[in-house]
Amino acid sequence: NPKLSERVNNMATSATLAMAAKARELRAEGKDIIGLSLGEPDFTVPDFVKEAAIQAIKDDYHAYTPVDGYVELKNAIITKFKRDNNLIYTPSQIVVSTGAKQSLANLAQVLLNEGDEVLLPAPYWVSYSDIAKVAGGVPVPISTGIESDFKVTPAALEAAITPKSKMLIYSSPCNPSGSVYSKEELRALADVLAKYPNIIIVSDEIYEHINFTGAHASMAQFDDMYDRTVTVNGVSKAYAMTGWRIGYIGGPEYIARACNKMQGQVTSGANCIAQRATIAALENPPSKIKYMVDAFKNRRKLVLDLLSEIPGIKTNEPEGAFYVFPDISFYFGKTIQGVKIDNASDFALFLLDKANVATVTGEAFGNPDCIRISYAASEADIKEAMQRIKTALS
Ligand code: PLP
Repeated sequence: NPKLSERVNNMATSATLAMAAKARELRAEGKDIIGLSLGEPDFTVPDFVKEAAIQAIKDDYHAYTPVDGYVELKNAIITKFKRDNNLIYTPSQIVVSTGAKQSLANLAQVLLNEGDEVLLPAPYWVSYSDIAKVAGGVPVPISTGIESDFKVTPAALEAAITPKSKMLIYSSPCNPSGSVYSKEELRALADVLAKYPNIIIVSDEIYEHINFTGAHASMAQFDDMYDRTVTVNGVSKAYAMTGWRIGYIGGPEYIARACNKMQGQVTSGANCIAQRATIAALENPPSKIKYMVDAFKNRRKLVLDLLSEIPGIKTNEPEGAFYVFPDISFYFGKTIQGVKIDNASDFALFLLDKANVATVTGEAFGNPDCIRISYAASEADIKEAMQRIKTALS
């Protein structure tokens, strides 16, 4: 619409949310759609977190909070960073936001000038590229494939760097691939970044606890990266609190203060009740949510076992998050049930139409050979969905 700004006209709609909306539409028409498109845990919020929220309402928390979060929440975040990541931050280095998505949007807004390049190891989380673009940045995807477990190599990273490179954004565990960078792998990337001091690293660790390797590494743990890395985290995934909208960062003070300033003009800070609940979530040890991680691990095995029975679907073993990212390029150029499949978007639409299963095209994540399947769903739904996909393709 020409009445709207170029900014929003040039922006893509979130592909994952669009697929979820399409699935909802088809359900409303009476179709029995199984949704494996959303990155949303199917668990409920742990009771100890719910109780903290109820208590906060009873205690009359209602007013505007400090823009960057309650002092008690910032202290809980500082304790969490020390306990889980061995990262030391002071309160002025912490900013609480309305979901990690806003943390990322703040960072793009305060760090990018028009034309600054944002390095995105692909596949990358769907919103990174549009968050960068809205801030005037230019996304620079760095391709990886299933052979390298979708992890970027130091050489590929270095080849993508130009004098305009300003920011690197990656997630580990990764959405959509589930890949987890080991400490050694991150160090090898840090060795490249050490040569380019202008690049700020945004380490999105929102899937930290949903990690089946048992080892989580943070870029900021390296002394030479600490002053140029922002660690992003939140409670959406590990605590099944997606709708509560709390994310946070720890990073260099000047960046945190700039995010505080930005957010002070845009939201005035995150919801007060959700902030109080997040204190309870973070003050408890991650062992409290291990039951969810164990369930995700079982479902990963289930989905991989069932996918292995479907010809032409190539998988690797994701080490974290709750996604598999199979390479389905075997089907390109083929016609199945009268439908010509030329790319991953065709394939995802085929699965929606012929198998009644919602997935997301890899194109949205910068990888056109794959689709993303979320296994944040019940075992019964996963089994039924894989059976339907197998039948539709055979
Ligand atoms: N980063 C990644 C990699 C994600 O997958 C998501 C949610 O899907 C987010 C950030 C945003 O999380 P939040 O719900 O805290 O905004």
